[in-house]
Amino acid sequence: MSNLKVDLTAPNGKKFTLPTGLFINNEFVKSSQNLKITSINPTNEQEICTVEAASSEDIDRAVAAARAALNHESWRDITGTERGRMMFKFADLIEQEKEILATIETWDNGKPFSSSMGDLESVIETIRYYAGYADKIHGETIPTISQKFVYTLKQPIGVCAQIIPWNYPLGMASWKLGPALSCGNTIVMKPAEQTPLSILYLANLIVKAGFPPGVVNITNGYGRDAGHTLASHLGVDKIAFTGSTGTGKQIMKTASINMKNITLETGGKSPLLVFGDADIEQAAKWAHGGIMSNMGQICTATSRLLVQDTVYEKFVNVFREVVKTTSKVGDPFAEDTFQGPQVTKSQYDRILDFVESGKTEGATLTAGGIPCPLNGKGYFIEPTIFTNVKENMKIYREEVFGPFVVIVPFKTEKEAIAMANDTTYGLGAAVHTKDIELAHRVAARIEAGMVWINSSNDSDFRVPFGGVKQSGIGRELGEAGLAAYTQTKAIYVNLGQKI
Ligand code: NAD
Repeated sequence: MSNLKVDLTAPNGKKFTLPTGLFINNEFVKSSQNLKITSINPTNEQEICTVEAASSEDIDRAVAAARAALNHESWRDITGTERGRMMFKFADLIEQEKEILATIETWDNGKPFSSSMGDLESVIETIRYYAGYADKIHGETIPTISQKFVYTLKQPIGVCAQIIPWNYPLGMASWKLGPALSCGNTIVMKPAEQTPLSILYLANLIVKAGFPPGVVNITNGYGRDAGHTLASHLGVDKIAFTGSTGTGKQIMKTASINMKNITLETGGKSPLLVFGDADIEQAAKWAHGGIMSNMGQICTATSRLLVQDTVYEKFVNVFREVVKTTSKVGDPFAEDTFQGPQVTKSQYDRILDFVESGKTEGATLTAGGIPCPLNGKGYFIEPTIFTNVKENMKIYREEVFGPFVVIVPFKTEKEAIAMANDTTYGLGAAVHTKDIELAHRVAARIEAGMVWINSSNDSDFRVPFGGVKQSGIGRELGEAGLAAYTQTKAIYVNLGQKI
């Protein structure tokens, strides 16, 4: 291992050099306190490598770099068109390196390689989408009285702290980098300590794309240290966070110190409703993808399947069969693998605790719920289905964040809506029915940021994404995503001679 770089060969044979430092001012630097994060491969529990972790002094340095970049003519005074050009170049570079980026993602996170490649497509599309917006962000003129000319400017918010989770490391980075850069902000990003690697490779591409020093800083670090320092930092104007609802609440409190602008995307316990007239095979297929993809580590996972009593038994049988035949658990680099390991031992233990809780509370473990290691190692769990679940049970109410689903019957539309909304969360929801009127009526009544009719977990960079209730504040993606990274300034010009 050379200084702040390591040569690695991934399990799929790909060789690459990974920077291991903190990325501040377009350079990789050491942690001032010699803090480290060791990244573990969840497939075999072996160490991949060790990277630098930020102390609060390092966060100070990164925030100062972002502040200086914000006020430097090389970023402040360039045109939106020029910003967009850098972003298009960034997207092209990601496209050229996508196999290596996907390899690192799969190695560090455990998600199937095909999913990582899918994530990379979405990263590239998201950066290009917001690159296109960079010279189309503008204010308006507002007619008032004849002596006044009033116009607005859409200006960047300033230094943005972006705290991202481990379930879609590069995906969540792109959702935050895209709109922030498009609008002319500068960034200090803190990746999750569980998955620190792919973003370091991405940092190289930020330099190559031509972004001036300090515009994007990436500081790996622990939530309680680096994350907390960012959320409480007086030099940070905005905080954008994706992760658990508990941490989101903590960040809200901490961020109040200087009234930071905040965007939060937090947890969920999203329902998928199957009405009696639905195409059961289709509903089961989407229900499977909606909860078992990405090892169930999806904030919008449709983890509560609410099924009309007339088709309940049929649905449970078809769904169980789909899970059995589709959810191949195994080596994430193998082509036919649908489900890799959970990201860490602690997530794996947490899911198994939920299995115990479900059994203790009297629900029926219909499938899975047990470890299925690969050569005796790895955080693999068989896809888990619980039936006979009551609405007061922990497994019905709390976010598990794993390949873990509960199936519960309902009788009427009214009851289905009440059950769907009986949660503190409000991220996604799915409705399966052939009745178009019922579908739209229910979609309007469900308390959620997104509703999928006859599917689950569709996501598109052009469409706003976010939650209501305790699933978040604000929106990412789409045109709405820009609102999170601009502020409106009103300018009054007095044209009159007498007033
Ligand atoms: P978390 O919310 O604790 O971590 C997410 C990010 O926040 C990480 O980068 C972490 O370092 C940072 N962080 C943690 N504490 C912080 C603090 N006090 N101040 C600032 N930043 C802080 O999530 P987790 O512990 O990794 O996972 C726990 C649970 O969160 C999961 O089981 C799941 O239920 C949920 N989760 C949800 C999402 C989502 O997309 N909604 C993503 C990951 C995890």
